This record gives sequence, structure tokens and C-alpha cells, in this order.
Amino acid sequence: MESMNLGDGLHVVVGGEFPYCNTLVLLSNEVTVIDPGCALENLRQFLKSHSIDIHEIDNVVLSHIHPDHITLASRIQRLAKAKVIANEITAPCFDDKEEMKRLLGFHPEHKVRPFWEQLVNEKMYGALDDAHVDIVVGNHETLDLGGMTVRTLYTPGHLPDHMCIEFPTLGYVFGADIDCTSFGPFYGHPNSSIPLFRESIQMLREKEVKGLISGHLKQPLVKDYRSALQSYDLQFDIRDDFVLMAISGGAGTIDEIAMTPIIYRSLSNLVFLQFEKWMIEHHVNSLVVQKRVAIENDRFVSI
Ligand SMILES: [Zn+2]
Repeated sequence: MESMNLGDGLHVVVGGEFPYCNTLVLLSNEVTVIDPGCALENLRQFLKSHSIDIHEIDNVVLSHIHPDHITLASRIQRLAKAKVIANEITAPCFDDKEEMKRLLGFHPEHKVRPFWEQLVNEKMYGALDDAHVDIVVGNHETLDLGGMTVRTLYTPGHLPDHMCIEFPTLGYVFGADIDCTSFGPFYGHPNSSIPLFRESIQMLREKEVKGLISGHLKQPLVKDYRSALQSYDLQFDIRDDFVLMAISGGAGTIDEIAMTPIIYRSLSNLVFLQFEKWMIEHHVNSLVVQKRVAIENDRFVSI
């Protein structure tokens, strides 16, 4: 179990890469976990090292609805009777997992849906369990969690409900899936948005903080977050170029472009292939807006 102490009761239990995420633990007059997607044994071990039992968790805060960020939320709610806190877009999706699937693009007839459900049940067990949000928060809302102040910051793009969480008195911001990983930004759902993602990255770059806490980096604290976010943002342009090269090379449909991996290294998994296709679709739309790609006879052509 790896963890990082950021001082004043703010800790990060390292979860790292998908299908886990980094979980923030706030120890104040209450016990709060943000994005409980690290391994359960690691969370238990961390709490135990502070003489806390998992049943003593008071609050669970969710940055967004992705299964790797909510994995243990239902379990903690049941075990500890903890209050679940989420924003107004996440809340209905957490309360009704069919809504969650719809937001992610996996409507009941989608052919990849059963494979995605299998992936979630195998790797993020519990994420689809029934549970409910107790406290719904809006944008720029300040919460007092047992004496520790946090503030919500909507940062859509990755998903429409994605939000960062600021620690105004401690001087940190939890970036969640604006994570500064070398994989780069993920926007692999129909409701994701490249322009909104880039705006959200820019918003974080303009923050004056001691550091950004990544949702997935094994070294979770990014002190030089301005340059890290700049490199992260460049991935959109790099991927635009790869998609454009594929179209220039004769690929005229999403399926044809997805014959060669651009974002994922391997596309042997049907779920990741679907994410790749949705991301390519966002790039094609963006290239059409930039007038670098046109659609002729239902095929993409470079201009
Ligand atoms: Zn996510």
C-alpha cells in the first residue's frame, strides 16, 4: 500500500492506473474519502494505520460517474452509512445505473454494452451496485467536511459530469481525470467533448495552487502542473494529426481509421476498441470544424 501525506489531514492512497484510481482521504473531525477507486485492501490498510475502521467513514465524495472512481462507494455507504456527495449531473447516474450507462453511451441495445459490463464487474466490482447520493452539490460550492473546506469546480469534457475538487485553505486541487498521465486525455464516450476538455485544462492551468493531485499518477502530486497540463493538452493536436494522416492515407470511415491504433496501443479488447472509435469520432468532428476534413459520399476526405 502506497500513500502520500500532503499535510493538514489530506492524504492520497495510491491506486494508480485504470481500473483503479487514486483515493483522497481527509482526516478531520470527520473521515472523508474522495473517489474510492483504490484497492479495498489498500484503503483498509491506510485507515488501519491511522486507527480508523472502514465503518467510521462519514463522507464519500465523487468527482464523476466513471466506474474506476466510484468502485467502493456503494460498499462504503452500506458498511459505514456514509453520506455520498456528488454533483447534480453525477447524482442521477449514481442513483440509477441505467442512467449511468446512458450517459456513457451504452444504451440497452449497444452491442459492446455486455462486454463493458463484464469488464466493470471483473475489474471494478461494486461500481454497478445500487446506492444513492445523499447530498447533491452544484458548481463552486463550498463544503465543510468536519472542519476541512473543499470547493467544487466543474470541469466537463472527459465526461459532462466531471468535476475537480479544490482545497482552498491547503492550496491543492484534485484534478481527478485531468490526470496528467502519459496516456493523455480520455474522452471515449459520445457525451465527452474535446473543446470542453481543453477549456477545463486551461481553467486548471490558470489556478494558483501548490500542486495538482492526479487521479491516476503513481506519484500523485504534480507541482509543475502548468507545464504538465500543457503537454497533456498537446495530445489533442498530436492525435488530430494521426487521424488526419489516416484520412489522407485513404481511411474514409471511423472503422477504417480504427484499423490502426492511435490512442490505445492494442485494440484487441472490444471495449477499448469502442472507446478508441468514440475518441476518433470526436477528432473527426473537430477536424471538420477546423475545415481540415470534409465529408464526401459518406466518406471523410482531407482538404
Ligand atoms: Zn473518468
